[in-house]
Amino acid sequence: HQSLEAFDPELAQAISAEEGRQESHIELIASENYASPRVLAVQGSVLTNKYAEGYPGKRYYGGCEFADVIETLAIERAKALFHASYANVQPHSGSQANAAVYLAMLRPGDTILGMSLAHGGHLSHGAEVNFSGRTFQAITYGVHPETEEIDYEEVERLAEAHRPKMIIAGASAYSRIIDWKRFRQIADRINAYFLADIAHYAGLIAAGFYPSPVGVAHFVTSTTHKTLRGPRGGLILAEAEFAKLLNAAIFPGIQGGPLMHVVAAKAVAFKEAATKEFRLYQEQVIDNARVMAKVLQERGFRIVSGRTDCHLFLVDLRPKGVTGKQAEEALGRAGITVNKNAIPNDPERPFVTSGIRIGTPAVTTRGFQEIECEALANLIADVLEAPEDEAVIGRVGKEVLRLCEQFPVYGGRHQT
Ligand code: PLP
Repeated sequence: HQSLEAFDPELAQAISAEEGRQESHIELIASENYASPRVLAVQGSVLTNKYAEGYPGKRYYGGCEFADVIETLAIERAKALFHASYANVQPHSGSQANAAVYLAMLRPGDTILGMSLAHGGHLSHGAEVNFSGRTFQAITYGVHPETEEIDYEEVERLAEAHRPKMIIAGASAYSRIIDWKRFRQIADRINAYFLADIAHYAGLIAAGFYPSPVGVAHFVTSTTHKTLRGPRGGLILAEAEFAKLLNAAIFPGIQGGPLMHVVAAKAVAFKEAATKEFRLYQEQVIDNARVMAKVLQERGFRIVSGRTDCHLFLVDLRPKGVTGKQAEEALGRAGITVNKNAIPNDPERPFVTSGIRIGTPAVTTRGFQEIECEALANLIADVLEAPEDEAVIGRVGKEVLRLCEQFPVYGGRHQT
């Protein structure tokens, strides 16, 4: 067999360039991380060849004896990690996990109540452009204009007024603790189901540094590739009484064959997440986010809601007269990757925005601690105070490269 380089140089070159980009840029996108070489290797294993429609012990294809072992390991590890009585490890993504819960429990046209995209919620929680907003009558809540924390009284008012069949909590850009119990109380009052989507917080929750909704919410969904640092994929946790409905909603409801190579990589990631190293890592993720938020505050930026309790925070750039779009571009030129992000009640258009989202899972995996994060936040402030100044961008870019070389991601160990 010819190597990929010899057979398909165009593609090999692009993958190699992406490897170079990941090594030589500082990654602050809050939903990204660097999976371990073990997780990467398992995703590239022969399991990609196997069809295993169904569940362990009940498959629609022969030859599933090892697939059964693998999926059972993943299920049992997920249950143990999150103290759940049921886990489905087959969702191809976080959106698929949510879709399956909706398919299991709702009918088209039912009312759902989720956090608005503009205030930090996810597309799949009822956004107009998403299947969830098109299939269901979606009502949205947001954050309080002054505290910028979830407005639980508004959630309560909307729940009473619209009587949704399901309330969804969880967010992609919310830096504070979510009061899962309060959501459950509101749901109970109107006899609604409560779905907690922990896609962003899953790693922190597994390590015990963020409250767990398991045992509070009827359903918990997640991705496995963000703070949890596993392969790109989804996960559903629930009370065992919902097992049959949820299993059927994933397969044959919305998916065919599970991605067994990804299921196996999830099993590895769950095992990694149960280690002491992982706990220390998650603690460092939060310490790093706090340090960065504090430095940026000291440099005159406004942090949405004033602080962070997790791995991410939103920076309001208006005090410096820069837009999110300009900030993303200027930081990009200095080798720092962030995403522009709307802040609550953002006066700018979604493609421009007044904010950026900063997350520390990836830099912490590289080995950054408080000292590097303090320096990094100062570099960011330097760029954002002079986004057109090529001398500043050049100086910061050099410093970024130096940090990247000092803290390699895979250190050349994972060459394709
Ligand atoms: N839920 C939340 C809260 C998320 O932030 C995301 C991803 O950004 C998802 C669900 C969807 O995950 P995926 O991109 O795997 O569909």
